[in-house]
Amino acid sequence: MRITAIETLVCHARMRNWVFVKVLTDQPGLWGWGEATLEWHTKSVVGAIEDLTPLLVSEDPTRVEHLWQMMYRQHFWHGNGIVRATAISGIDLALWDIVGKVHGVPCHRLWGGPVRDHVRLYCHLGGGKMEDFYGTDPQDAAHFGELAQQAVADGFTAFKSMAVPPTMPIEGLRPIRYAEACVQAMRDAVGEGIDIMVDCHARPSPRMGVRFATALEPYGLYFFEEPCWPESIEGIAEVQRSVSTPIATGERLTSQQAFTPLLEKRACSVLQPDITHCGGLSEARRIAAMAEAYRVALAPHNPQGPVSTAASLQLGFATPSYIICESVHADVPWRCDVVDEGFKVEPESRTVKPDDRPGLGIEVNEDEVKKHPFEPELLQRVFYPDGSVGDW
Ligand SMILES: [Mg+2]
Repeated sequence: MRITAIETLVCHARMRNWVFVKVLTDQPGLWGWGEATLEWHTKSVVGAIEDLTPLLVSEDPTRVEHLWQMMYRQHFWHGNGIVRATAISGIDLALWDIVGKVHGVPCHRLWGGPVRDHVRLYCHLGGGKMEDFYGTDPQDAAHFGELAQQAVADGFTAFKSMAVPPTMPIEGLRPIRYAEACVQAMRDAVGEGIDIMVDCHARPSPRMGVRFATALEPYGLYFFEEPCWPESIEGIAEVQRSVSTPIATGERLTSQQAFTPLLEKRACSVLQPDITHCGGLSEARRIAAMAEAYRVALAPHNPQGPVSTAASLQLGFATPSYIICESVHADVPWRCDVVDEGFKVEPESRTVKPDDRPGLGIEVNEDEVKKHPFEPELLQRVFYPDGSVGDW
């Protein structure tokens, strides 16, 4: 069996362009689906996949590890930059999909079978825009309570929000009190039986990260995400040591080597590799194994399209340290239409059970994808009130 071609299908889905990857083989009807979505870098990723394709055409697609090593190490430059790592990830997902189809089993069966009965999903409430906090008409904290109630009404038992506003490296009490009010509103709205997460989008400085984490400690967050820049591992470790709240990070890291110091320094309690950026399922499984050794949980970042979610679920079914799957359910009303077959979400509990569909268990509807061609993502130009550059 040989790889004959690699195609990319771009599907504009409001906030981001989904990049679906199709690896074709010389076996009739046998191909694999992957996803390599990278906001604001769609054309770069499509080009990077084109650059990698000559390495793979005519190779055996079932030699996933061998091909991964080629993609990562050949052509001199290692594949740990975000664009190429995303391209590698998308192809890697499609290769695993092919291997599962060749053997007639879902990917989680290739990795030892299911280790749980279902995977729990969580949703994202949004928030945290610069204008929500600094604008002339700031978003009322009570709004977070309304969104939280809606998430629970939709069946979710866990949700994430951006209740921490963007801040300059040092600020006074106002943003701290705002974050407290937002989380208080969510907790009051849903009670203690629902898990609440807060994502800082890595905008605070390490010191502001400590202040936010300390202020939110009484609310019992499930985890507190990216409290400062991912480049500052010592900073993340400082936040982790300052509270008992589990600190989560890792969505922007693109190789197992980047995760190693987080574990060595005991800098977090939850690793969040993005399967479409970290090097695919192959690298995510290595990262999961390292996390297991440190008894650190895994909660992959997954705000992208349905193939990414299918891959995350397969990993979750087979990985003991995997605790929860990020999911998007309300970005575009036609989200389900781009998939002919896929995982089934239990609407009452927002959980997904393993099933027997081979590979990643998903088939993309190419005709539907073609209805939503590439459009540039909205520009994200963020500035603080004094005109200096802020993080999105
Ligand atoms: Mg995040």
